[in-house]
Amino acid sequence: MSIKTIITEPNKILRQISQPVEKVGKEEKILMDDMLDTMYAANGIGLAAIQIGVPKRIIVMDITWGKGEKSPMYFVNPVIKHKDKVKSVYEEGCLSVPNQFAEVERPKNCRVEYLDYEGKKKILEAEGLLATCIQHEMDHLEGILFIDYLSKLKKNMIIKKLLKNKPDRIVV
Ligand code: ZN
Repeated sequence: MSIKTIITEPNKILRQISQPVEKVGKEEKILMDDMLDTMYAANGIGLAAIQIGVPKRIIVMDITWGKGEKSPMYFVNPVIKHKDKVKSVYEEGCLSVPNQFAEVERPKNCRVEYLDYEGKKKILEAEGLLATCIQHEMDHLEGILFIDYLSKLKKNMIIKKLLKNKPDRIVV
């Protein structure tokens, strides 16, 4: 297991569409372990593989993180089968958009079909924070970031701040 570098916006890699996984094998399990380590180390509650530069449809999450026991969740090839018409608003952040937060409206509930860590087919009825988090992570698989839902003005302001905060690169 190892901690990987999280790619931050602006970066074209984050805009790639991730590809379905054929089978949950050893390689995918190592990737999921690394993703979870990386997510915990960065104090996040969700991470998509593309955020560490791997364009596979894999997500890890732990919405209880920081509140005691760890309870990791793994989603391979997740598909949203149903979305509630009722919406809810959360202030969202993203490990790829460091230190920036904004309110985003999304369906309050959703049903997700996916494969778990063992490659078994699962269905999850998600609501509240869990539903929002899954939808945020699944957006990453399509190359979408939460700032894409904001006004152009607000989005540009955030990107400007991110560019300002990016460390200078030196070659020695
Ligand atoms: Zn994110």
